[in-house]
Amino acid sequence: MHLWVRVETDAGVTGIGECVHGGHASIALIKELEPRLVGLDPFAIDKIFEDIRRSLVFEGGFAGALITALTGIEIALWDLKGKALNVPVYELLGGKFRDKVRVYADCEVSPGLNLDEAKRVVDEVLERGFTALKIDLDIFAYGHTGSETEHYVKDKFNMTPNRWEHERMVKLAETVVAAAGPEIEVATDLHTLLDKHSAIRLARDLEPLKLMWLEEPVPPENIDTMREITAATSTPICAGENLYLRHGFRDLIEKQAVDIIMPDIPKCGGLSECRKVANMAEIYSIPFAPHNVSSPIGTMASAHVCATVPNFLVLEFHWTKRDYWTTIIQEKTDIIRDGHIEMTDRPGIGLELDEEVARQHQYPGTTWFE
Ligand code: MG
Repeated sequence: MHLWVRVETDAGVTGIGECVHGGHASIALIKELEPRLVGLDPFAIDKIFEDIRRSLVFEGGFAGALITALTGIEIALWDLKGKALNVPVYELLGGKFRDKVRVYADCEVSPGLNLDEAKRVVDEVLERGFTALKIDLDIFAYGHTGSETEHYVKDKFNMTPNRWEHERMVKLAETVVAAAGPEIEVATDLHTLLDKHSAIRLARDLEPLKLMWLEEPVPPENIDTMREITAATSTPICAGENLYLRHGFRDLIEKQAVDIIMPDIPKCGGLSECRKVANMAEIYSIPFAPHNVSSPIGTMASAHVCATVPNFLVLEFHWTKRDYWTTIIQEKTDIIRDGHIEMTDRPGIGLELDEEVARQHQYPGTTWFE
């Protein structure tokens, strides 16, 4: 579900933002926070965010739907400020390190382990100009159990794959890397589903493939376990799509428990916060590769942060199968061309929602900017 936030001012300037993964709780929270924004200086973005957050620590101002709701407001305020000052958001964030933001495509490769089938999926992505892609090693690796979300044949909750399951994950990665060829980078995701020794064994067996990364082999909450896995393999370990705020990333970065961090910018705190997270990571030589499942609005907002930090690696694109990707914005264009998002000099985030098209996809039971 895409959740867009609009902030209006008495000066007639408006801003649009987006947040993800907050669900109906974030919608309710945004409505609740609305009266608190009336009369404030909309340019004091960090102050508004931090003032509201600190006042709500008893209500969960460290993580979850509340932070996500605040994030949607924060991004809309950046868009508003950019438009009011007639500059792109990246100028307000310190200026660009790069004119184009590299994007990778998240794709679904079924467990057929058939090179031709993997080639077909990979070719679709390459035709669109991407130079990097990601596959799930877990979710679709065992598709014959009857449920697409069924993870392991033996037991959905046990984190220990047996030898057959281990080999199947290795084979799936090998098949996709072979299909992609030497020019294309491949990342893999495990959605926190392994135990420590299985993760180390898998990461080591994947080493010859020189993957871009192996994502969240175990839950990132246990920093020490993550660090042991990272130290035990040359396969880069990546984590962070479910962490919030710079506080949530602090230990992961300071203990160098991962090789790459991947905050979801329109979920975990917004543009200011994630720029700080990227800066914290940079002093430990850790690249920044944000998770992203947003519409073009949130994706472009994320790109503004990616353009302004030195250690940016690559940004996710999740919606190769969504037919509204280009029609849902007034610009009627794919913001991703040849695997990159070009940073324009349009003010604010630089995109406008086509509300007529967007409303055709409105989620049942939700309101429309009310
Ligand atoms: Mg992931």
